[in-house]
Amino acid sequence: MTQPRTLGTASAAGIAVDNPATGEVIGQVADSTAEQVEAAVARARRAQPGWAQLTPRDRAKLFTRARHWLLDHCQEVVDSIVAENGKPAEDAIVEVVYCVSAFAYWAKQGPRLLATTKVRSLSPFVLGRGMFTRRVPRGVVGVIGPWNNPLINSFGDAIPALAAGNAVVLKPSEYTPLTALLMVRMVRECGWPEDVFQVVTGAGTTGQALVDTADFVMFTGSTKTGRAVAARAGERLIPCSLELGGKDALIVLADADIERAVNVALHGALVNGGQMCTSVERVYVEEAVYDDFVSRLEKRFGELTQTRPAGLGSTDVGAMTFPPQLSTVAEHVEDATDRGARVLAGGNPGPWPGRFFEPTLLVDVDHTMTCMREETFGPTLPVMKVADAAEAVRLTNDSQYGLQAAIVSSNTARARRLAEQLEVGCVTINDVQTNYMALGLPMGGWKESGLGSRHGAEGILKYTKPQAIFVNRFPMRRDLNMLPFDPSSYRFLLRLVNALYGKRWPFGKN
Ligand code: NAD
Repeated sequence: MTQPRTLGTASAAGIAVDNPATGEVIGQVADSTAEQVEAAVARARRAQPGWAQLTPRDRAKLFTRARHWLLDHCQEVVDSIVAENGKPAEDAIVEVVYCVSAFAYWAKQGPRLLATTKVRSLSPFVLGRGMFTRRVPRGVVGVIGPWNNPLINSFGDAIPALAAGNAVVLKPSEYTPLTALLMVRMVRECGWPEDVFQVVTGAGTTGQALVDTADFVMFTGSTKTGRAVAARAGERLIPCSLELGGKDALIVLADADIERAVNVALHGALVNGGQMCTSVERVYVEEAVYDDFVSRLEKRFGELTQTRPAGLGSTDVGAMTFPPQLSTVAEHVEDATDRGARVLAGGNPGPWPGRFFEPTLLVDVDHTMTCMREETFGPTLPVMKVADAAEAVRLTNDSQYGLQAAIVSSNTARARRLAEQLEVGCVTINDVQTNYMALGLPMGGWKESGLGSRHGAEGILKYTKPQAIFVNRFPMRRDLNMLPFDPSSYRFLLRLVNALYGKRWPFGKN
């Protein structure tokens, strides 16, 4: 059933890129060697100090130009994403809008979040000192991205790194490298300093070479590769941030607006063809509303369209970008039906020559099935009946992943209390995935879903190292605690301790 894996793999001519919705080869990119990556990082290292020395206002001007370029060229960028990823134009538009808003957000908030801050201390040893924390760019940030979102999970993560004064070398997925190359054209046409942002195309070994040379690695991809990246970063003692796989649950409580719950489930599971780290991959529905929920959801699955994307409104569910993913999805469906699940919609690969899998609704599922435990990353949705919210919480937490979860309920106070029991990095209530657009809110996985987070203060601070500045503004010739020790000075110091901390130091014992 699967096509031979010829795409995304290197040959002497480079790496072929196809349109997953047609099977047509649409481009060829270089399979960059370790030496080429080293050279790109060396160029970035030379360019970085000049970039860091620009004032935030000057960098903001260059961000504004890029933002305008993206809007002026939005059709070209959307077409590029659609062609190499196989997603509908609507899914691609979300990526462009994200980057436009990220340029504006980080240009405005970056200087505030990175500003030098004054620190206070109550220690008697530091009385009278001025203390400051300043943030220093890490240098060259290596960004490594997956294929499911060729723009936001690659270039999108480069934006705050650049805002913090770093140079960036981006290695996009070998399956979707073309849109990243458009970003190289963008920064050139916007007059950015040379080599501040570069792209190296290639497969896993190119990514490895970037981890071997960058000063910080921002990685988005599978948990398996994330472990390898973290291990190598550990050997080099460089920091990394990892955004990895997920198995996000949706909990539908009995008091939910069922129509809203159905829409949240449908969109959460199938947007971007179900190829989102934050896709809803399992649903737990309280018994009282289970039948109503499932019958409405089944009807809605039947109304979806799936065909080659050809502009707005042409299709709801796109193609499968990564060739081996088709087999993974089929195996999860087969394993579920072998163990007693029923398929209410879909269940099969779509028509060739593109790589499609039908939107698939599974019921009568349980936690012995692969589809409830491992990341499927496709347009499937298993739905399970639960006795109550407590069971839903227990099952949600019964996972090695901890990326996100969603709850639908008309009682948001109760939903918030339940959210606090979930072992995930983000819980959306009566919503799904939209939190990604809230750049002020941290987004990062717990458990095996990642380390660190993008967005929020952490999303830019991680691209810097703190430097502490400690100023003795009124230096005496000799501090009380300096050598040679003087008992009377220490007695005075201990009186100070008593005054500061409200406790009597047992003088006599010293
Ligand atoms: P992947 O791990 O196979 O590849 C990701 C990137 O890593 C690619 O660019 C690849 O070439 C590169 N790579 C491979 N081996 C490497 C190595 N040893 N060292 C350095 N780089 C290496 O992942 P994928 O199949 O491209 O993406 C799908 C996965 O990404 C899913 O698990 C999905 O959940 C996850 N994802 C997570 C998020 C998030 O924000 N948490 C977002 C999107 C996708």
